[in-house]
Amino acid sequence: MDYKQYVKIVEDWPKEGIQFKDITPLMDNGKAFKSAVDEIVAYAQEKEIDIVVGPEARGFIIGCPVSYALEVGFAPVRKEGKLPREVIKVDYGLEYGSNVLTIHKDAIKPGQRVLITDDLLATGGTIEATIQLVEELGGIVVGCAFIIELSYLDGMKNLKGYDVMKLMSY
Ligand code: IMP
Repeated sequence: MDYKQYVKIVEDWPKEGIQFKDITPLMDNGKAFKSAVDEIVAYAQEKEIDIVVGPEARGFIIGCPVSYALEVGFAPVRKEGKLPREVIKVDYGLEYGSNVLTIHKDAIKPGQRVLITDDLLATGGTIEATIQLVEELGGIVVGCAFIIELSYLDGMKNLKGYDVMKLMSY
């Protein structure tokens, strides 16, 4: 499927100089959204995934239907102060700004095979931080799946040694 027809490019948002890729039209279209989720599920099916992990907020939108289809759990990675119980946290830099991400300490058991999902790979900071959280809890990251990769930001350099799939690149 040509997914790019469902991505709207927004100039200078959320800041001047940023060219934001908006995937809400893809989610609006039932067939396109199902096809995108199905492709990630097919990728994950060979990997014996125990749990899917996704950073807020768009990582939830992709990760939850994937975990449902795989019949495995989903563990949210959230900004500081959002998860109610004991967490571990990591600081990281963003394409625009910086952030702290957290995960519940008991979200992943040592040795569990983890698929990480997000809508978009930009600099790779978010996914690198998410990997760090998963690995600190003893999880094994067996795959990372994205709808979009911004190849001009070279986020893949942060994912050396990890198995990565994406549905489209800019
Ligand atoms: P990174 O940490 O620089 O790789 O940025 C990726 C994170 O920022 C993802 O969680 C995305 O949801 C968000 N993000 C950055 N740029 C865009 C964009 O153009 N469209 C949608 N999300 C974006």
